[in-house]
Amino acid sequence: MSGPIRLEFVLSGDHVDRLPPTASEVAIVGRSNVGKSSLVNAISNRRKLAHVSNTPGRTRLLNLFSVVEGPAGNRSDGRLPATVMDLPGYGYAAASKQLRAGWQRMIEGYLLEREGLAMVVVLVDGEVGPTKLDVQMLDWLRSHGIPHTVVATKHDKVRSSKRERRKRDLAAGCDLEVGDVVWVSAVKGTGIDRLRGLIRTWLS
Ligand code: GDP
Repeated sequence: MSGPIRLEFVLSGDHVDRLPPTASEVAIVGRSNVGKSSLVNAISNRRKLAHVSNTPGRTRLLNLFSVVEGPAGNRSDGRLPATVMDLPGYGYAAASKQLRAGWQRMIEGYLLEREGLAMVVVLVDGEVGPTKLDVQMLDWLRSHGIPHTVVATKHDKVRSSKRERRKRDLAAGCDLEVGDVVWVSAVKGTGIDRLRGLIRTWLS
């Protein structure tokens, strides 16, 4: 049993250089509508949090949260002890090519340069399966040797009779084994405790 991870909003930035240093960070990324806000809320048991990230203007920024656990206070070296990065959703169809290129630079810059980045959680819609953009993101992370884990969302939306098949297909579409993918449902709470435990492990 792994209880809620208490998160506090730190700031939104548009460049990795402007983020405060961290000892250990887990980043969450996925296309818009994949269920990212719902998942962040479920992990932290707070509704207002992902709302912060969904505030107009912040949806396109790097939103940093501090994990508040154990003894309070910063480390003596000035780094935040543990943080969660909510990355902007990719694949807004409405965005211009130029805007999309700007986001891509921001996200890629972050992923390549962030010190303390321990794990990138790549959200894939469990109902839809991996999209072309999801696969591109996974290929890119692999090509740069950046540690990542696929979390499939909306487990409750897949009919139980189709789950085993879907799990196999989704994993294969991501070029992974079935057991490599963590399935969750923010609505039903499925897999949330397990994911909290994994996040705590990655951050420690
Ligand atoms: P975001 O754009 O990635 O932040 O996605 P949201 O968290 O806003 O979710 C997008 C849509 O999917 C919303 O209508 C949510 O209610 C729905 N959704 C998110 N997670 C789940 C889930 O676990 N189960 C179901 N059934 N719907 C979900």
